[in-house]
Amino acid sequence: MGRSLQNTMINLGIQGACDEAMYQLGLDIEELEELEEDAGLGNGGLGRLAACFLDSMATLGLAAYGYGIRYEYGIFAQKIKNGEQTEEPDDWLRFGNPWEKARPEYMLPVNFYGHVENTPQGKKWVNTQVVFAMPYDSPVPGYGNNVVNTLRLWSAKSPVEFNLKFFNDGDYIQAVIDRNIAENISRVLYPNDNFFEGKELRLKQEYFMCAATLQDIIRRFKSSKFGCRDPVRTSFDSFPDKVAIQLNDTHPSLAIPELMRILVDVEGLPWEKAWDITVRACAYTNHTVLPEALERWPTSMLDSILPRHLQIIYHINHLHLQEVQKKFPDDWERVKRMSLVEEEGEKRVNMAHLCIVGSHAVNGVAQIHSDIIKNDIFRDFYELSPEKFQNKTNGITPRRWLLLCNPSLADLIAEKIGEEWIVHLEQLQQLKQFAKDTNFQRAVQKVKQENKLKLAQLLQKEYGVKVNPASMFDIQVKRIHEYKRQLLNCLHIITLYNRIKRNPSANFTPRTVMIGGKAAPGYYTAKKIIKLICSVGNVVNNDPIVGDKLKVIFLENYRVTLAEKIMPAADLSEQISTAGTEASGTGNMKFMLNGALTIGTLDGANVEMAEEMGQDNIFIFGMTVDEVEKLKHHGYNAYDYYNSNPDIKQCVDQIQNGFFSPANPDEFRDVADILLKYDRFFLLADFDAYIKCQDRVGEIYQDQSKWVEMAIHNIASSGKFSSDRTIAEYARKIWGVEPTWEKLPAPHEPRDEEPVAK
Ligand SMILES: *Cc1c(COP(=O)(O)O)cnc(C)c1O
Repeated sequence: MGRSLQNTMINLGIQGACDEAMYQLGLDIEELEELEEDAGLGNGGLGRLAACFLDSMATLGLAAYGYGIRYEYGIFAQKIKNGEQTEEPDDWLRFGNPWEKARPEYMLPVNFYGHVENTPQGKKWVNTQVVFAMPYDSPVPGYGNNVVNTLRLWSAKSPVEFNLKFFNDGDYIQAVIDRNIAENISRVLYPNDNFFEGKELRLKQEYFMCAATLQDIIRRFKSSKFGCRDPVRTSFDSFPDKVAIQLNDTHPSLAIPELMRILVDVEGLPWEKAWDITVRACAYTNHTVLPEALERWPTSMLDSILPRHLQIIYHINHLHLQEVQKKFPDDWERVKRMSLVEEEGEKRVNMAHLCIVGSHAVNGVAQIHSDIIKNDIFRDFYELSPEKFQNKTNGITPRRWLLLCNPSLADLIAEKIGEEWIVHLEQLQQLKQFAKDTNFQRAVQKVKQENKLKLAQLLQKEYGVKVNPASMFDIQVKRIHEYKRQLLNCLHIITLYNRIKRNPSANFTPRTVMIGGKAAPGYYTAKKIIKLICSVGNVVNNDPIVGDKLKVIFLENYRVTLAEKIMPAADLSEQISTAGTEASGTGNMKFMLNGALTIGTLDGANVEMAEEMGQDNIFIFGMTVDEVEKLKHHGYNAYDYYNSNPDIKQCVDQIQNGFFSPANPDEFRDVADILLKYDRFFLLADFDAYIKCQDRVGEIYQDQSKWVEMAIHNIASSGKFSSDRTIAEYARKIWGVEPTWEKLPAPHEPRDEEPVAK
């Protein structure tokens, strides 16, 4: 979520009044805003997407709740020490959280362990251990429409009777101390992005959230006029018409067997009726096709922690496989591939398969990603039920990612086309007519230059680094992951460095290359990549021959609040994942909306960005998904590229032989090894195209009028990437509700630099 104060003032239309009021009290509101901690309760794009969706759902007047876990410790704070990442706990609640309100009246029990008994009334899950889920509500205001929705986060609370055995045994002190064990469930966020770590505590977290949320939903449904037509027995007939549950990846997939358990075991519905209700209520958004990210829980773990859910999953699977056999008789290979339960090695449940079978809609998050889902990883499921599969291209909220973070650009746009773009982002199209207008070009350039100066000052103050604000700000910020190819960016930096050293007097477009992002603490290679970037920076930044031409900066502790400062100051956005690996990306959209040009592959939403703005306004390079597939098929040999391209050879050799780590020549040997022997993401295959494309970027940057014209085209074409558009599509095509764009009088007042005291 990041910070809430400025966002709340903007959406309520009181930012100007608050600025003024604080000024009259002798306070600077921007200084106060800096005191708020980020709510860092997610890992990267997936969680931030949910935050943008909450803003859009409130703005479109949808009666929607966001549910999650109130982690006591969010994503770790990243500190760079001697060029290496270290992690510090994110104690974000230390000084309290003024935005949240505990709701003890809605506290709910969640069960774990125990066993299943057969009774005349059906299956009973008994002898369980109980943990309570305490809800904390935070307001989610819509933009200028007097709507406030709720983000409800669950915190684990030990029941009074927890560890009663020890109380009775007389060890009172130990029993009280051990109450922590239950409360550990919501202690800390697992810091992996796009990676499945099958830890028991993580499974408990996922079930904890699903169980509490479903009870909450059902309580609210029962208390509504739809749930209580029969005062003794609730009718769930209208449940799927009144409730839509959107699963954000498979992390809440246990909602499916949990809803079945409640309807069948607790409410006494027949299985068929419960299944119909469950499938019609649930929908699943897939966020990745990387095999290492797909959740596959061992049945042994499910059996111990959630024995009834495992039974239910087995029964769902039994009925599902019967359907598969009916449609594809005697295709046993297909039946095996489509099973929810994988039998090779340790027996596991494939949670994506469970989500597809248990949902009426399945969507990818960009067109290319939705196509890959249908044609590749979930092809069998598409062939079984093609009507389920949809696309919902991601978006970002223009409130936070333009109005809030880049007020000068917002004001400049408002001068030209008014303020309706804030809730109708497609209206930015009107800016196209000014793309060649030299006055407008100069104004856009001036805003960008001021934003760059501001970021430069921040870098100077926070990290003591000096950057040339006239240089191109070339930025890659996102989680550090091999598939995102920060290492390819690093190879480009090294290539530029070698070029300067070879021919110091040659024409060169000065660049400040910034790379930022957190590595999962257990991700060895990602941490090495950070270290390499810092080491290359040490060599490049301290070489007098290089001077002002090239600087390399690792941006420490990338998070929402830092993103808000970076996006407005970027000239070039790096979106260089191997085609077919980045489901959508949303960072790409933030840069585009703030007038940066993109260098990128035909991956994720980059494809649709290029469509919207035209190939002339974006720097596309590298293999397509089809070409990557062909390369995989024929076999990738990195040495082919290494031996035939002297620039590659020089870079890789320098990494290999300790050129960037003279104190420890072996430091980056394994990085070179990955590049040459174990690279799953084909960096060297795209190297040449990337360098050539970067050379075009450098050339065009020297023609500032051309550059800013392209930047205006980028801004003007970014309307599609509003999360309002995304949410309107979810509402109409999956949830069966109609969004409303009705507005109160426009609340946006331009924010003065110096409020004037009356
Ligand atoms: C937008 C955002 C992301 C997602 O960036 P991608 O480039 O799409 O991976 C990650 N982290 C933060 C803090 C963000 O704001």
